[in-house]
Parts: sequence; C-alpha cells; structure tokens
Amino acid sequence: MPITTADLARFVELYADRLHAAREHLTALDSAVGDADHGINMDRGFSAVREVLPGLREGLPGALAKQVGMKLISTVGGASGPLYGTFFLRFGTSLGDAAEMTGADLATAVRAGLDGVIARGKADPDDKTMVDAMTPAAEALESNAASDLVQALEAAARAAAAGRDRITPLIARKGRASYLGERSAGHVDPGAASTTILFESLRDALGR
Ligand code: ADP
Ligand code: MG
Repeated sequence: MPITTADLARFVELYADRLHAAREHLTALDSAVGDADHGINMDRGFSAVREVLPGLREGLPGALAKQVGMKLISTVGGASGPLYGTFFLRFGTSLGDAAEMTGADLATAVRAGLDGVIARGKADPDDKTMVDAMTPAAEALESNAASDLVQALEAAARAAAAGRDRITPLIARKGRASYLGERSAGHVDPGAASTTILFESLRDALGR
C-alpha cells in the first residue's frame, strides 16, 4: 500500500501528541546535560506545526514535509529547531512532486533528512546526538522498507531506541552537553530520546 499525504499527516499529528505528552520528560533529560528546554522546544515547534496541518492535508506529501520543516525552523530556537527543521525539509525535497510514496521512497527520504541533519550540525557518529538514534533507524528502513514496510518500521523504532541507549554511557562531543565533558556520561541524550519518539510515531501511524 502506498503512503499518502493523509498517512504523513497522521504521523506528524501523532508525533506532536507524543512530544506534548513527553514534554516534561524531555525537559528533565535536558536539565541534566543542557539548559532544560528540549521538551519545551519540541512542543512549541509541533504545536505550531499542528496549526498549519489542516491546510496541508490536501496537498502533496513532499509539500507537507517541507512546510513542517519550515515551521520548525521559524518557531524553535535552540539546536533542535534547525536540525529537525532540516530533517523535514530534506525529507520533503526527496519526495519531489510525487502524489504518493512507497516504502523505498520513505527510506530514501529519511536518509536525505539524516544527511541534512549531519550537514547542518556536523555531528560525527558517537558524538552523542540525535544522529546516533537516527542513523540506525535510517539503516533499518533501507534494509527492508521496500519488501516489508510494517516490519521495517518496527525495526527502525527499535533501532532508534537501541541507538539512544547505546550512547548513554558516552561523553557528548556536540551541543550543550559537550560543555559538561565527562559529566555528560551516563545521561540519556535528549535529542536521541525525541528521535526515538519520532520513529515510534512513524511506526504507529504507518505500520498498519
Ligand atoms: P539546545 O541544545 O540549543 O538547548 P535542544 O535542547 O532543543 O537545543 O536540543 C538538544 C539536542 O540537540 C541534543 O540532545 C542533541 O541530540 C541535539 N544536538 C545538539 N547539537 C547537535 C549537532 N551539532 N548535531 C546533531 N544534533 C545535535
Ligand atoms: Mg536545550
């Protein structure tokens, strides 16, 4: 079954709901290693996205994703706004003018989004950022989104969570958490946590 604009809108709405519910949790994670605003930032951005979503449901999936990206960039201060904004912008650009997407298109779009995050934030693997949750999720989609989308979405959500947990013992080398040096070790990275919620929302919205 092809993925439509309505599917993508359902994913974005679910992600917005879950970020709202996780607002205190994400902010608490950021209070340990940063400036205690990650939950506030994400909730602010996706509340703004929620307001423009109705007008985007009738359009193309690529246009919807690009508008989500632009809204995040314009409403979220801090590192995560431009980074997630770039993710959705590049995701949308990758879809072009297609009316629907296949599982393979989804994997390609997620990879394009991830490449954008890396180009913008310059994070290397194991710098302990959202990139370390997004990379294994993108790989999981690439390995089987074309053949079995439901299973690929499940694998991607699990891979993101595993990436988030794998980097917890590491020392952060990018973003505010890097200012803590060795004291950042042992804390969950807030951005890796919100990226895990992204792939869980994608699974739950599309993995039918
Ligand atoms: P800020 O750090 O500006 O307060 P947030 O608290 O909203 O922004 O987001 C912090 C998260 O952003 C981090 O947990 C990390 O995952 C991610 N992050 C920070 N810098 C980078 C970067 N250069 N590349 C990728 N991700 C980054
Ligand atoms: Mg912060």
